[in-house]
Amino acid sequence: MNIGKNALMVLEKRYLTKDENGNNIETVEELFRRVAAAVAGADGLFCPDADTASVEKRFYDLMTNLDFLPNSPTLMNAGRPLGQLSACFVLPVGDSMEEIFEAVKQAALIHKSGGGTGFSFSRLRAAGSTVRSTGGVASGPVSFMRVFNMATEAVKQGGTRRGANMGILRVDHPDIREFITCKTNNADITNFNISVGITEAFMRAVESGTSYPLIDPKTKSVVREESAPEIFRMIVENAWRNGEPGIIFLDRLNRDNIVPGQGEIESTNPCGEQPLLPYESCNLGSINLVNMLKEDENGNYTVDYGKLKETVELAVHFLDNVIEINKYPIEKIEEVTKLTRKIGLGVMGFSDMLLYLGIPYDSQQAVSLGESLMQFITESARAKSAELAGPRGPFPLFGESIYAGKTEPLRNGTVTTIAPTGTISIIAGCSSGIEPIFAYAFVRNVMDNTELPEVNPVLEEILRKRGLYSGELMRKIADQGSLADIQELPEDIRRVFVCSHDISPESHIRMQAAFQKYTDNAVSKTVNFRHDAAVEEVSKTYLLAYRLGCKGVTIYRDGSRDSQVLNIGKVN
Ligand code: ADP
Repeated sequence: MNIGKNALMVLEKRYLTKDENGNNIETVEELFRRVAAAVAGADGLFCPDADTASVEKRFYDLMTNLDFLPNSPTLMNAGRPLGQLSACFVLPVGDSMEEIFEAVKQAALIHKSGGGTGFSFSRLRAAGSTVRSTGGVASGPVSFMRVFNMATEAVKQGGTRRGANMGILRVDHPDIREFITCKTNNADITNFNISVGITEAFMRAVESGTSYPLIDPKTKSVVREESAPEIFRMIVENAWRNGEPGIIFLDRLNRDNIVPGQGEIESTNPCGEQPLLPYESCNLGSINLVNMLKEDENGNYTVDYGKLKETVELAVHFLDNVIEINKYPIEKIEEVTKLTRKIGLGVMGFSDMLLYLGIPYDSQQAVSLGESLMQFITESARAKSAELAGPRGPFPLFGESIYAGKTEPLRNGTVTTIAPTGTISIIAGCSSGIEPIFAYAFVRNVMDNTELPEVNPVLEEILRKRGLYSGELMRKIADQGSLADIQELPEDIRRVFVCSHDISPESHIRMQAAFQKYTDNAVSKTVNFRHDAAVEEVSKTYLLAYRLGCKGVTIYRDGSRDSQVLNIGKVN
């Protein structure tokens, strides 16, 4: 297997099966054998005389060629006693002590198994409301979020993952001001990403400069009015200060709710790419786009659509099998998940692909390619899901879904999601998700402060091919972070090898919107701002995302937190 040094380090540290003394008792090949065998086993459940050995071989090759990788919990747990394979869960939080602490317990079970949880706290009554049974005063959503946060801290995932949560509050909840500022101190509520749930009504009030009502979730009566532009400004300023809160467009999530009769979508998973109904879970997997290129005899690259289609089909087969063999942390989650059978196939290595194709990320050509690639992937994935629905049956709620009577029966309620691929892109050795390259040489701070030095392999390969590579040049690139001002590099290279901070926030959003257009679920994307960006630029970016049909926005201004995952120019 062609596995890099960083990939090996990540796998050895967290993914390979260990004995009770912490020594690895499987090799990387054995890990993929274990996963392929377990996932292929599902074919035998549907059809007793299925040739599971040949399916296992195909899954094994798919992963060891690094064409596709499932989300981390599948790699860690498939074929092992825990057997929990999904990355994404959403749990409901009801407005009573019993329901709140039931959700804390359920989240703890999910975190222990390597999954991440999202919650909406919008149903909790506002701080200061009365509590009928005790005559006391309610402490409100933010104080309960701290309880969830502390529980997450305590679980620490039994040595696999640290525990990740998404906390959402509707913009019309009476405690919205407290929520927007609850992470102003970065050392607070560290196990949560937070997002304000934005409504169309609120956005219209922002655009027309009017006020909007805050609603008591209990009585549904209007508590007071707030100025929409003022609350919007508050969200933007806090995001500018340290990246939180993000925003999600609730009405858009629900416009794409495939089974509206089952209730409203009120939250996403921790990184925002997977909207789910309460108790739903979803398993993700991503195709490495670098491996979907072909090179002609002149050294020019083009997209290999034939290979991409085959890879999508096998990946959909794989992800549907995962739903079947998954050991769910709670019975209710198994029940609800199997009603819609959502899967989230996405991509990684998109930026690396652009480098090989010689297309700058911040160009119309790149945006068009992103859109047409994703259209191709979603259409191919849906066709495969329809094919699986033949022998395996459609997802049980197909008849009441938005697809009923419009498409052939489908096996899966959703097929595509763009995940961050934080760890699996390191394993595949490619750029993460659809993000631009952060820097061409840097230090990556992953998993308990282990620092991984990296020089972009595509840049190295292309500079070597053109006889431009030198150690001195690499050091200069590392220092500056960007290639833009390195005069000794030819213009065409400087134009194509753009990094996150060379790219305007507008271009980041245009790319997110391009992928969103043909993605069933949502797109994980961070819009990077330079340290000296103005608050106004963040505001403009949010409005653009709204206009272009994005489902949410996450921003990060360089240097706005003490500890950040990626650092410009920090190399060994
Ligand atoms: P990976 O590359 O490890 O498969 P991603 O970075 O693509 O994972 O994240 C996908 C989803 O996995 C996230 O949105 C979240 O739901 C979940 N997740 C990520 N990191 C963690 C973590 N440390 N603990 C729990 N869940 C996580």
